[in-house]
Amino acid sequence: MRMSTVARAATAAPPASSQLRAHGRVYNFSAGPACLPTAVLEQAQKDLLNWQGSGMSVMEMSHRGKEFISIADRAEADLRELLAIPANYKVLFLQGGASTQFAAVPLNLAGPEDAADYVVTGAWSKKALGEGKRFVRANAAATGDNKSLPAEADWALTPGAKYLHYCANETIGGVEFKGVPAGLEGVPLVADMSSNFCARPVDVARYGVIYAGAQKNVGPAGVTIVIVREDLLGAPREGTPAMLNWTSMAKEGSMANTPPCWSIYVCGLVFRHMLDNGGLAAQEATNERKAKILYDAIAATDGFYAAPVDPAARSLTNVPFTIPARPELEKDFIAEAAGRGMVQLKGHRSVGGMRASIYNFMPVEGVQRLADFMTEFAARHQQ
Ligand SMILES: *Cc1c(COP(=O)(O)O)cnc(C)c1O
Repeated sequence: MRMSTVARAATAAPPASSQLRAHGRVYNFSAGPACLPTAVLEQAQKDLLNWQGSGMSVMEMSHRGKEFISIADRAEADLRELLAIPANYKVLFLQGGASTQFAAVPLNLAGPEDAADYVVTGAWSKKALGEGKRFVRANAAATGDNKSLPAEADWALTPGAKYLHYCANETIGGVEFKGVPAGLEGVPLVADMSSNFCARPVDVARYGVIYAGAQKNVGPAGVTIVIVREDLLGAPREGTPAMLNWTSMAKEGSMANTPPCWSIYVCGLVFRHMLDNGGLAAQEATNERKAKILYDAIAATDGFYAAPVDPAARSLTNVPFTIPARPELEKDFIAEAAGRGMVQLKGHRSVGGMRASIYNFMPVEGVQRLADFMTEFAARHQQ
């Protein structure tokens, strides 16, 4: 049985998409770093040796030179337009990943004796809480079960907390908030949006801070975007390392030191690409369409596949699923899919099963191809 499925995978027809054939590329369902628009990669390739007649690659430019300053300014302006970021918010392009912001958030917003609330809905918010505990009196206001969202009415919020932190989309569990938590009046809301950043329009004004690593939805690894309301700047705690200090980074235009120039440049190309393709409303419509194709395919197999997450909390961007009655088939599923040009479908090592990450630049045709394969695989094993 095993042998025959592997043999079949090896001889499977190549992906039908003309776009894929042209580039020999696969449908990459990686949870991050993730796929980027082909047009953006082509533009980067075109610019690689000589950016706009400057005679230099972006990788070779001084970050203080007029060329790179123009690239960084344009990237910020385009992101501001894309997310409709109000003028009283600063946009920072930092290093160290979202993981570094787990420490930067308490350092910039609270003192060691202050309280901060955390809503734990999965692996990433749990990590944020763990790091937060090293710097602030971090309180787990609510803890989810990795399959649903704890009802906001039951959250044990702390009056006078310096902030309320939550993860808008749990990348590993596939649990996503559909709205903005109300929280407590006067307590700034801080959101880790790493895996659903720019996946849909967001009312930035509802937040104190939004942060996100770029490598899932908007660019390469190496840059983390922090959007922070201006009145929250100015009071980092004593001893905050300069590289984690939002206030000084904002004053220096994110250039207190050498910024991740190449990553910022590619993010800029992505922002422009998104603006040219209908912005976040269009992106949201595409993302909803893709998620529906997959969740519908799972539901249509009479329980052969299971999506563990409560429908009210299902992520648009990370879709975990299992083969509950025959888990031994999961590795065949993953191997056969790879043989058909659909890679990185293995679930996170902590949860097993499969996970399809269908971020902004996974094309609809890639998701449709996966759904078709799922249907065919189920039919073959259900007889
Ligand atoms: C990927 C991810 C992180 C960690 O990002 P790094 O850039 O690896 O530090 C944090 N939070 C969420 C929600 C993520 O998806």
